[in-house]
Amino acid sequence: MARTSRFPGFYKITVAERRLLVSEATGISSDEMETALASGGLEADTADKFVENVLGTYALPYGVCLNVRVNHHDYVVPMVVEEPSVVAAASSAAKMVRAGGGFEAEVDAPLMTSQVQLTHVQDAPAAMAAVLRHKSEVLALADRAIPGLVQRGGGARGLEVRRLGTAADRMIVVHIHVDCRDAMGANLVNTVAEAVADRLAALADARVGLRILTNLCDKRCVRVTCRVPAAELATETMSGEDVIDGIVNASRFAELDPYRAATHNKGVMNGIDAVTIATGNDWRAVEAGAHAFAARSGHYAPLAVWRRGAGSPGVLTGRLELPMALGTVGGTLRVHPAARLSLQMLGVTGAGDLAQIAAAVGLANNLSAVRALATDGIQRGHMALHARSVAVAAGAAGGLVERVAQMIVEARDVTLEAARRALAIARAAHDEAAVEGE
Ligand code: NAD
Repeated sequence: MARTSRFPGFYKITVAERRLLVSEATGISSDEMETALASGGLEADTADKFVENVLGTYALPYGVCLNVRVNHHDYVVPMVVEEPSVVAAASSAAKMVRAGGGFEAEVDAPLMTSQVQLTHVQDAPAAMAAVLRHKSEVLALADRAIPGLVQRGGGARGLEVRRLGTAADRMIVVHIHVDCRDAMGANLVNTVAEAVADRLAALADARVGLRILTNLCDKRCVRVTCRVPAAELATETMSGEDVIDGIVNASRFAELDPYRAATHNKGVMNGIDAVTIATGNDWRAVEAGAHAFAARSGHYAPLAVWRRGAGSPGVLTGRLELPMALGTVGGTLRVHPAARLSLQMLGVTGAGDLAQIAAAVGLANNLSAVRALATDGIQRGHMALHARSVAVAAGAAGGLVERVAQMIVEARDVTLEAARRALAIARAAHDEAAVEGE
């Protein structure tokens, strides 16, 4: 049965009701969901096997992005994030994109790259030539270090040599590209780097320096595009056409100014990180790759760009490209019950599908941010959602959370002090009502 990711009114129902709906839509039993998400899905004893000096665990909200359609498939996309409005923003933008046919995505082969630094190089051109002459031998040596991956159809695929700095640096670096299949691949390519380093040093008549992957895995990029009809973008006060102009302007601002591009890309990563964390992947690796890629021309640039549709001016088009080292196997986090639940909920067959979905959510978050910025400004929607956590921080519980949040939003003062004052007033009103009801 084809999955759906459309659940109108999802935000209005209880957590238990949402779990039930997602269970029915994805075929995951309620029990499985209950177990995987109980107290953040991780026991202290299990956490103790992941990292060192464990005292306990630290839970974050686990939500789902709705309305996501990528390459004509619907996905209920898990997002783990502490920031209010990220999940709502992604879901609402995904709905606009859906009206234009959904996201189209494509992904490169899962190539990760080992770097072997060679120092004290006597004759760089001769060293580079010697390494290149022995390419097949080095790739075979690399494959022997990762037999399990080779058995699964992965393995070493290419070799490049680069000279770094000036002659005085006496340094070259050898890149080995490895097809990591469905793994993120860091451990695999690090193993490769260590396995081939001595042979490379001998070939280059040099000394071995560092042996480690690069997180700028630009041979493993994902590209996602979308088309949004103007009518979907209109607000109460602005026509869809004007919103398109505003969004294209916002895109140009980011293209011309790294100060803006940094914040534009932060919006993209709001979605990508949340999916990365929910699926047990290494978000520092994805972040490092994204920002290095954004600066690859020497000018830090936006990862996502927006334009009017060529030949269809009433349509906004968006395009996002970035490296995406995500795995659906391996790594320590794959034993995390909530990460396994996320992969099951997505129903992905491999790392490529996951990369395309994560990128689609990133583009959705960016669309939502640039649309808000080009229309009402970001604070209206953001503060309305942020107000609930401020109300909780001030001590509100139960029905008083919504009441206090509403009061501080109406007062345009979303601060802890205002929430405390509002809570005192709301409590007094509540107590009075209780007395009257006696
Ligand atoms: P891994 O060490 O678990 O290797 C993947 C394993 O899965 C291999 O043994 C492989 O043979 C097996 N496998 C099973 N089915 C597979 C399939 N379909 N495709 C591919 N492999 C399959 O994990 P990894 O992905 O090599 O490394 C990821 C970990 O490395 C993450 O935890 C990450 O945080 C960490 N790490 C990251 C960095 C960095 O990004 N700079 C550096 C070091 C370590």
